[in-house]
Amino acid sequence: MSGFERRNGELFVESVSCQSLAQQYGTPLFVYSRAAIEQSWKAFDAALGDRPHLVCYAMKANSNIALLQVLAGLGSGFDIVSGGELKRVEAAGGDLKKVVFSGVGKTRDEMAMALEAGILCFNVESMDEIGELAEVAAAHGVIAPVSVRVNPDVDAKTHPYISTGLKDNKFGIAFDDAQNAYRRIADSASLNVIGMDCHIGSQLTDIAPYQDALSRLLALCDLLESQDIVLKHLDLGGGQGIRYKDEETLNLDAWAAAMFQEIGDRNYEIIVEPGRSIVGNAGALLTSVNAIKPGEHKNFAIVDAAMNDLIRPALYSAWQEIVPVVESSEPQKLYDVVGPVCESADFLGKERELAIEKNDLLAILSAGAYSFCMSSNYNSRPRAAEVMVDGDTAHLIRQRESLESLYASESLIAS
Ligand SMILES: *Cc1c(COP(=O)(O)O)cnc(C)c1O
Repeated sequence: MSGFERRNGELFVESVSCQSLAQQYGTPLFVYSRAAIEQSWKAFDAALGDRPHLVCYAMKANSNIALLQVLAGLGSGFDIVSGGELKRVEAAGGDLKKVVFSGVGKTRDEMAMALEAGILCFNVESMDEIGELAEVAAAHGVIAPVSVRVNPDVDAKTHPYISTGLKDNKFGIAFDDAQNAYRRIADSASLNVIGMDCHIGSQLTDIAPYQDALSRLLALCDLLESQDIVLKHLDLGGGQGIRYKDEETLNLDAWAAAMFQEIGDRNYEIIVEPGRSIVGNAGALLTSVNAIKPGEHKNFAIVDAAMNDLIRPALYSAWQEIVPVVESSEPQKLYDVVGPVCESADFLGKERELAIEKNDLLAILSAGAYSFCMSSNYNSRPRAAEVMVDGDTAHLIRQRESLESLYASESLIAS
């Protein structure tokens, strides 16, 4: 379920017409379905069943505080990668004791903030980080709860930019060094071993890489146990793929069953860190056609959204479905849907069959994850507004940026 459907040729998000949202809030506009977000979160929770578990939403996928608030209301934990994200959890009323802190480059300030907040766990990614965390915790007179992010060296078979579990990726502690890392944590008076984690990549559509990674991790868990280093939880990361076009996605129940089969009767609490799969399909970017430029070989639809709003097509060659908000019976033509930014990489979709005219509205689907949160002000374009729809109610959850705000933190030099 995405929360988006067509009724009488018109695109709706839950009970609200996308056209009415565009009229009220302007374009480009991100719209999200609360029901779809809640349903995806609950699917993870249900798949993990009776086993003690915690679903920690990987909030870098979309960190709007209203979205975090909705998930916190379901009892969600959060996977954060910065101090800024920790602040957002706090602002959203999330439970800081359900926060796991990932990331390869945590600063001392961020470590101190997270220790003060009393988070669940630091997922450490290097020997240097272990040393620094031990020092910061000691200086604060507290004991830091630690999990080692193990890089299992498995190929997740996804886009190279979103593959994270290979030896050559910067993420995690190499499998062969992990035992030493645990020894060092166990020997530190200000660190406490509580878990093991991995995250091998994003947009995975196959269970096999998860199984490979988990079996490597479990072998390590067993080895540690034989050395009296006992873990409480196992964090399987995120990465579950969604359907953008025609991908066969993972069946979550089958995925969980496969994980449980590997785990057997070891009784770890299970943590998962899904991001994209919680919000990806639950959002769309509405944009209006500013101009149609017919060409000899192809036509351009120049829209008011651009790569600064949605960088996935330019950055990952990602394909996202583009549909008219109101269907037309005119004949279709082939378009490249492009933005106004001065870059040839500024496209949202290429070679799409569309029946459109100037001023029509388009919806770029599956724009809930890695979309708004990766937006920028390039070309001095204010960031889009965001709306969350809940049944027949639309909530403005982020105002459109003003032009003045673009340079509000800049200053002229004295002349
Ligand atoms: C990005 C990230 C996730 C979420 O990945 P998705 O593909 O969005 O599910 C989970 N864990 C870590 C450590 C991450 O960096």
